[in-house]
Amino acid sequence: MARRIPEPFRIKMVEPIRQTTPSDRRRALADAGWNPFLLKAEDVYIDLLTDSGTGAMSDRQWAGLMMGDEAYAGSRNFLRLADTVRELFGYAHTIPTHQGRGAEQILFPELVKRCRGERPVFLSNYHFDTTKAHVELAGARAVNVLTPQALDTGTAYDWKGDFDLARLGQIIEAEGDNVAAVIITITCNSAGGQPVSMDNIRAASELARSRGIPVVIDAARFAENAWFIRERDPAYAGASIPTIAREMFGHGDMFTMSAKKDALVNIGGLCCFKYDEALFREVQVRCVPMEGFVTYGGLAGRDMEALAIGLREGLDDAFLDYRIGQVAYLGERLREGGVPIQYPTGGHAVFVDAARLLPHIPAERFPAHALACELYLEGGVRAVEIGSLLLGRNPQTGQQEPSPFELMRLTIPRRVYTNDHMDYIAECLIEVKQRAAAVRGLAFDYEPPILRHFTARLRPA
Ligand SMILES: *Cc1c(COP(=O)(O)O)cnc(C)c1O
Repeated sequence: MARRIPEPFRIKMVEPIRQTTPSDRRRALADAGWNPFLLKAEDVYIDLLTDSGTGAMSDRQWAGLMMGDEAYAGSRNFLRLADTVRELFGYAHTIPTHQGRGAEQILFPELVKRCRGERPVFLSNYHFDTTKAHVELAGARAVNVLTPQALDTGTAYDWKGDFDLARLGQIIEAEGDNVAAVIITITCNSAGGQPVSMDNIRAASELARSRGIPVVIDAARFAENAWFIRERDPAYAGASIPTIAREMFGHGDMFTMSAKKDALVNIGGLCCFKYDEALFREVQVRCVPMEGFVTYGGLAGRDMEALAIGLREGLDDAFLDYRIGQVAYLGERLREGGVPIQYPTGGHAVFVDAARLLPHIPAERFPAHALACELYLEGGVRAVEIGSLLLGRNPQTGQQEPSPFELMRLTIPRRVYTNDHMDYIAECLIEVKQRAAAVRGLAFDYEPPILRHFTARLRPA
């Protein structure tokens, strides 16, 4: 049995959540077109849709809200935020943004402008979906260069977020001046919140820098990645989490951050530059019409205060031990119950391998989505499909192609649910596993042309 790490906090305020009956849930899911995205949040008992913006702030962060300086320009909260970034990451220039994609939309067009090649391309271990979208909106291509070890969910590997360095080197050679930037995503969300090793970060950064290519860190889960490096790389066994974080950021030239993850706020983002003042100025110019004036970027003064505090709290040892320990604990409970998962678990979520749990459901009947529906019916737990429904049809052929993964993601919000909730989730899913053979796939009643997983309506096939 996995080590169970008690919560390093006590609870000062509670938000009641409501358990529903099986018939309530059957009705709610039918009304939602068998799509958990379309459920009312109030009909959900434990909501594991995402860890983005769903965390609980601390008493200090709530106190920080009261210290908001709502000056339009140069508020003290902005200055404190920029000081915190300088101290924690060693980056000289800070632009706040409304969230991570706000940073992407003001940075990438400037990187494309600077690119000398005719066909700009961004190379990443894996582009997050909004990251890919903003690369493409900026007129560039997004190419993922992930280690093939990430695809084998059943086999343990410490660094499933790594770049395939040999391929990265080959693509950089082949593309030459076309490479607008290398984006290092820590942890690698799309591979299951899997960490990138320090050696891999360093090597990817050196490959880029030796060709004069800028290195962008996509830093949403920077603290979780630092924790994994300390846990798994003997060279860092005695290092502090902030020291590891600073070294990781040392291998980048700029970073974009969704502060809704490890920075422990409900809204916010950052776009920061280590030393390139010219680029910083250009991105600031783009910030004003898109996000807002350069010292608030779509955030209230109070939001920036909570963010400055959250950046530090996110790096706290006891918090991270508990946080990642809670995810690992849920993963262990599921493995003991015979539920196949991406192993080892990553930082923010457990990914259940629905292709292995429901082998009788073909890709075009969406096994991971069917599993998410069953989990909701069983216990009011909302999870999300990462598989063929998300992937969509091939835009050229109109055909549904099978996704390399059929995963159901159980995303754990930070400091929100207790370990008892984890037990409950595991018990519900093990129940579903017992009747797996009877679970049916789903067919469309309504299939939206793009981003269909958000609004599709389905029915049991
Ligand atoms: C969430 C996320 C983003 C986008 O950030 P938003 O705050 O949702 O706009 C970008 N990259 C990664 C890796 C993320 O997890």
